[in-house]
Amino acid sequence: MNQRSSAPPSSGNVEFQVFRFALDPNNKQRGHLASHAGGARYAYNLGLEWLIDSLEKRRAGGSESTPNASEMHRRWNRWKKIPQNDAMWWSTNSKCVYQEAFRDLEHAFNSFVASRRRKRRGRRLGFPRFKRKARTRDRFRLTGHFEVDRRSVQLPKLGRIRIHENASRFASGIEFGRIRITSATVGREADRWYVNFRVARTTRPSCTPSFGAVGIDMGINALATLSSGLLVIGPRALKSNLKKLRRVSKAHGRKCHGSKNRKRTAAQLARCHSRIAALRRDHLHKLSTYLAKKHGLIVIEDLSIQAMMSNRRLARSIADSGWGDLGAMLEYKCRWYGSKLIKASRNFPSTRMCSGCGNVKDALPLSLRQFTCDHCGLNIDRDLNAAKNLARWPAVAGSAPETQNACGEDVRPGRSRAGLDEAGTEQPVLASGSEPIAQAVAFSCGSIGRGRRTGG
Ligand SMILES: [Zn+2]
Repeated sequence: MNQRSSAPPSSGNVEFQVFRFALDPNNKQRGHLASHAGGARYAYNLGLEWLIDSLEKRRAGGSESTPNASEMHRRWNRWKKIPQNDAMWWSTNSKCVYQEAFRDLEHAFNSFVASRRRKRRGRRLGFPRFKRKARTRDRFRLTGHFEVDRRSVQLPKLGRIRIHENASRFASGIEFGRIRITSATVGREADRWYVNFRVARTTRPSCTPSFGAVGIDMGINALATLSSGLLVIGPRALKSNLKKLRRVSKAHGRKCHGSKNRKRTAAQLARCHSRIAALRRDHLHKLSTYLAKKHGLIVIEDLSIQAMMSNRRLARSIADSGWGDLGAMLEYKCRWYGSKLIKASRNFPSTRMCSGCGNVKDALPLSLRQFTCDHCGLNIDRDLNAAKNLARWPAVAGSAPETQNACGEDVRPGRSRAGLDEAGTEQPVLASGSEPIAQAVAFSCGSIGRGRRTGG
């Protein structure tokens, strides 16, 4: 029903977004999907062989240049037709699959080179590795013509595949040219196949935020404590499913390698992991959308999650809460909805500072859940105190010599204070410990669920 509109979305900033749908393929289609994933893996490994080969020749004194994606694709087109290579299966899959696999390899190699030359941020990357069937997630990318209607998607070579959700809104977005599909990545998670459509869209009309500035303290007991007094309890996806995960995992470990039973428990274990990830992702998406839409200015801590994870008593809880993902989601959603995200400096003592008088304590042990000020006598929930301090961060940063925050955004005092003044019109400031929790219950009944269901 829907045509891929060749024209780019109308004027305005183009943003890229991914829409994900769970596929509902029949058995024949399942085989076809697996074949595509296998083809992508094969091409990647073959390209890597060529790459290593050219590097070795160069090391031996040759002048060979490393093949890029298009060179690999040219080689592939010659290689696949040689009968000795026994690759007549290539035509069963879409040709994009191989092309995109070579692009992925090129990207992996370039990232490795950039990382080694310290021209790439983040952790150091290793040399691309061969993809083993048992250790690699089934995944491939398609480009070209796609069609989407209410109940199915049509992919190149694969044809029409039913989907689990109703995609009518997405389909009408394509039909009226609001969004344009640029590529589709199909992947398997546990026993379920998904398609991720990467779309170009004009920036959404920015929402008018109902509230002003808000500081968010991310914690373990409560996923997020807002300076307005709102308390958001996370679904604790892992914690609530840990018992089951342990049971399935142990059962899996007892099965003989290569047996049918082992295969069966492996699938069970994968489903369990996939469900935990889905629960967490769902909650974080709902929370981040709520925050980005409702608040004009959001201040979060610039946490070094990797460093905090080295505390082995807290690592599991930190990983389960998904602070990193929440920060990343807020970053792009704030851009979508026209709100502003600021990360407070790591040196800002948001936990140890009194939100009433600004007095800074030397230390506050993690076991103390209540903050009591020695100076003005304020007694307040520890996390709420930190969140309130974070909300004040832009003003603090503005008066400090540095006016750049962690995101590289300018935090000029004038603009930031305007945001703070708006905060006064938000919600009544809650100081007692019980009221925020009462609010949180109301909150969880609304847009953000607590994720009580624990069964698999
Ligand atoms: Zn005080």
